[in-house]
Formats: sequence, structure tokens, C-alpha cells
Amino acid sequence: MTYSCRICGSSALDLAWDLAQVPYGDLFCESRETAQKLPSLELTLALCQDCELLQITQEVDVEEIYLEYLYQSSVTTGLGSYYQRLTKSLSLDLELRSSDLVIDVGSNDGTGLKPYRDAGMRVLGIEPSKRPALVSMDAGIPTINSFLDENSVNQTLAQHGVAQLVCANYVAANVPNPVAFFQNMRAMLAPDGVISVVTGYHADQFSVNMFDYINHDHLSYFSVTSAVRLAEASGLRLTGAERVEHKGGSIHLLFRTAESRVVPDESISKLIQRERWVGNGALATYTALAARIEMASQEVRQLLGATPDLAVTGVGASISTTHLLHQFRIGSSMARLFDDDANKIGRFSPGFGIEVSPLKDLRPGKRQLVLLLAWQHSAVLLNRMQSVGFTGSVIVPLPNPHIVHLG
Ligand SMILES: [Zn+2]
Repeated sequence: MTYSCRICGSSALDLAWDLAQVPYGDLFCESRETAQKLPSLELTLALCQDCELLQITQEVDVEEIYLEYLYQSSVTTGLGSYYQRLTKSLSLDLELRSSDLVIDVGSNDGTGLKPYRDAGMRVLGIEPSKRPALVSMDAGIPTINSFLDENSVNQTLAQHGVAQLVCANYVAANVPNPVAFFQNMRAMLAPDGVISVVTGYHADQFSVNMFDYINHDHLSYFSVTSAVRLAEASGLRLTGAERVEHKGGSIHLLFRTAESRVVPDESISKLIQRERWVGNGALATYTALAARIEMASQEVRQLLGATPDLAVTGVGASISTTHLLHQFRIGSSMARLFDDDANKIGRFSPGFGIEVSPLKDLRPGKRQLVLLLAWQHSAVLLNRMQSVGFTGSVIVPLPNPHIVHLG
């Protein structure tokens, strides 16, 4: 494999899993033909022998490859109450004062900064996407419409000074060069400041077979072990780590400058120990995951094939469901997808070109078998399906394939 590790630069990378080829999974298109013609991309998971960073070896410049297909979609995080709790605990733990500056990297529409602003602190968002950056500015949140790079760092320092708190929620996995990203955050940090990062935690996600978090947006899959190495490479020190439940398993990491005298929390060594126990740095862990997913896909294809006279429809239309359809090789048997996301309705899924309809149109009457593609949200979606009057059988594909009867 001619590729070097995103954190430590080592070329000692082991192939962990070669996943099904798939177009960029969030590109739901206006016509079936366009959706079916999207170029497929490889998706390869590799494990660094030196720092244990799990990463994909493809670096897709989505804008370049897909410029003609791209459209602007609004981002809904659905994490509002978690961020509110996080804001409260960070403000208390760090004893933030009203004169302090709080920066959010990848600030989207500025929602995450509002609680800090309302508490009287100075806030600044850094957001590369134009539309959310404009929404944020309209809401009175100072925002730099840019990626985090040398220019935006210099602009920040010149206009706002250093920050007591720099946040990055669900963006660290997406950056091509995590070391440069963390160095840039450090450059904006006060000597006694803190960097707060929330990111997906595959150690927990993969334990429930949530493989469909692996996609071309997520270049790095951090562990506490690899985060320690990332900190060292970026002039930082990892001083806190806590598992959180969101997105099937996430982790909240706190970093301070390497010169900080704050003693790292004992949770760090405990989590590193736990990562050893679950085999986070062992290739066999990922081979076993791939085997479990292949087994589940066989079972699902059997369940779908058992009643060939029934039309099969899917619930869920997202980047994750695109990956599930391709990895399970079930897209061509799917007549329609149902979802509540207004950005997807009336569009066609990447690759298979399956039309997306509003979830409220999922009615009984016609004999159909439903596959719950967005299985991570089973509880919410099964309730929602009942509330629109759906009765019948639903295949839940993961963590382990099973059938739920509604009505
Ligand atoms: Zn490495």
C-alpha cells in the first residue's frame, strides 16, 4: 500500500477492510439516470502499525469529482440538547469568564456558539460552507467563511486574539491532515486554554456492527490511543477523554498545550487499556467485523428473497443507507426509499437510483416488505412508521438481522 499515515507519517499500514465500491453516498440526484451514472469510488480501511490510527486511504475531493452533481443541503445535527449540556459543563469546568473568547471550528450556522454568546462571552465561528456561514452572521455570530488554515488563523489572532476554548464537533474525522488541523487550533489557543473535540468512536460503533459510519467523509477513525499520538505531533497533550452515546458511539476529547501543567485525567489510561482489551490496534478485529457484516448481509438477502412476490421498500435515505445498500448488495431489489428529510424527497439514491418518497406515504394496503436501512434510529423510526399507519413486517438489518411485526 503506497500511502502514509495521516498522523505519524508511517508507511507501515495494514489493509484492514476493502469495502464495497460506492459513489459518494450523500449525492441524492434529481434524476435516476444521473444517480446511476455517478462514478463509483473505492473505500479502503487501513490500520497504522505505529500509532494505531484507523483511516481510509482514499482522499476524495468531492467538489472536484462531483462538481456538476453537488447541491447545497442544510445540515441537521439533532444533537442540540447534548451540545447544551456540553456547553454548561465546559463553561463550569474551565471557569470561563465573560471576557473570554470561544471559537467553534466547523461552526455551521452558529447554533453551537449561541449559548456561549448568551452567557456573555466573545464568540467566533470558522465555517467553510458559504450558506451556513451567512446564516450564522445574520444571527449575529461573528464568523469567518473559510477552512481552518494559516490565513483564517492569522485573521482570528489579528481581530480577536487567543481563545480560552476552541471547539470542533464532528469535524476532526473529516480533515485530510489532522496534525495541521490541530496545530492550527493550538495556534489560536491561550496558554491555559482548552481544545474540545467530539468525534465518532469506532471502538464502540463497531462493537454494535455500525460499519456504515465508514464513508468518504470520514478519513480518520480516532481512538484514545491514536489521539495521544496526534496530540504529541501537534504540540498538545490529551488531558481528558469521555465516551458519549451519540452516533452509535462517540468520544469527547480535551487537549491542552504540551506545556500545560494540568494532569491528564485517569480516564485516558483506562480507555487505552480498554482499547487494548477490545483489540482496537489488532487487524483481526477489523477482519472479524468485515466477516460479521458479510454474514448479516447474507441473512438479509435471504430474508428479502424468501418472499419474491412482495415489493421491497427501504426506510432511510442518507450517506449511511447508501453504504448499507452497496455493502449488502441489495440496492437492485429495492423499489423505493422513504424518509422525512426534505433534502432527499423526490431525489434518487446514488448508484442504484432509487426514488425517495416522504415517510408519510408509507401506507399499508399494498403488500410490501420494508427494510429499515436507517437501523441506528430503529426505535424512533418504528414509532414513526406506526404513527403514519404502517402495518406489516420490517426487517431490521443490524446489529443482527431480525424481523419486527408492526400493527
Ligand atoms: Zn500512524
